[in-house]
Amino acid sequence: MVSVVQARVGDMRNLLLRVADHEGLVRLLTWTGRRSGLAQRFVAGETMRETFEVVRRLEQAGLDTTLDLLGEGVSRDQEAVAATEAYKRLLGRIQLENIPSGISIKLTQLGLDIDRSLCSENLGSILQEAEKTGNFVTVDMESSDYTQSTRELFRDHLAAFGAERVGIVIQAYLYRSEQDIRDLTSLGCNIRLCKGAYMELPDRAFPKKKDVDRNFEKLLDIMLGSPAYSAIATHDEQMIRRAMELIREKGLPKSKYEFQMLYGVRRDRQFQLRNQGYRVRVYVPFGTQWAPYFIRRLAERPANLLFVLKNLMRS
Ligand SMILES: Cc1cc2nc3c(=O)[nH]c(=O)nc-3n(C[C@H](O)[C@H](O)[C@H](O)COP(=O)(O)OP(=O)(O)OC[C@H]3O[C@@H](n4cnc5c(N)ncnc54)[C@H](O)[C@@H]3O)c2cc1C
Repeated sequence: MVSVVQARVGDMRNLLLRVADHEGLVRLLTWTGRRSGLAQRFVAGETMRETFEVVRRLEQAGLDTTLDLLGEGVSRDQEAVAATEAYKRLLGRIQLENIPSGISIKLTQLGLDIDRSLCSENLGSILQEAEKTGNFVTVDMESSDYTQSTRELFRDHLAAFGAERVGIVIQAYLYRSEQDIRDLTSLGCNIRLCKGAYMELPDRAFPKKKDVDRNFEKLLDIMLGSPAYSAIATHDEQMIRRAMELIREKGLPKSKYEFQMLYGVRRDRQFQLRNQGYRVRVYVPFGTQWAPYFIRRLAERPANLLFVLKNLMRS
């Protein structure tokens, strides 16, 4: 019975992620998301001012943050350059206003689909600004079409800027991630481990949740046993508990790891972890380009989708 329910949930997730390519449906879902207030639960604001207020509140509550200026898959040079400049301005404002936040970026927002060297230049330019302002940049991981190029660009810039400036994400649902995490942990860099949020085919990713969870636990063990700084990015109670066990068994100091969660997801658990003495970082997305991010959050939880659909029918 449980596996039937899980299969249905998996089908619904894939269906919704496929919808993300349909402009009209995306517009309808995001319109309803905004009207029903659900979008505001996951997206901190459309402006920097609104977002900094959220970050300050989180800081006062003892939570660290990483800011994602939403946007991805840009197809014109000017858009990629504009996103790069916007991120640099963001880094400047973070320093000026003394906001305790890193940033998270997506390489397709910096032009990876247009020209790899343009993307590399843009990433380098952001990292230079991060160096000037003493900040830290995590390169988010997008769908598996970009895994190899993201990894390669990350390694080039890791060599130039060092592990204290730039980190990367590993997705437990991909078969290749075990090898990737072994390679990357041996470099002692900063890694965020998550399950993975995109629609993937079974030749690249575990189709079943139970296998993704099993792999997450395996990769967690490798990551926490390595010299890497580990960011444990999950809301899954079983994964959180397993991480705590491994941290205890390995006698890991607090300076070697942190928990990370998304803005608006399991807020109670974020505070509990902080109260238990763990370092917790909240991933805070903001900006006007929030539709793809919002659709991925809907796809993760049928209840979110049902909430939006009910509102759609009422309006
Ligand atoms: C800090 C951070 C950064 C991330 N960066 C990336 C990235 O770069 N690339 C990438 O592919 N993915 C990224 N993700 C997303 C991640 O891959 C998963 O899609 C997402 O975190 C859900 O997986 P889970 O581990 O929480 O487990 P799940 O098994 O999906 O969820 C466990 C429980 O968490 C709660 N929950 C999870 N999602 C939601 C939601 N949307 N709404 C309400 N409750 C929810 C529910 O209670 C659920 O039962 C990131 C996640 C985090 C926390």
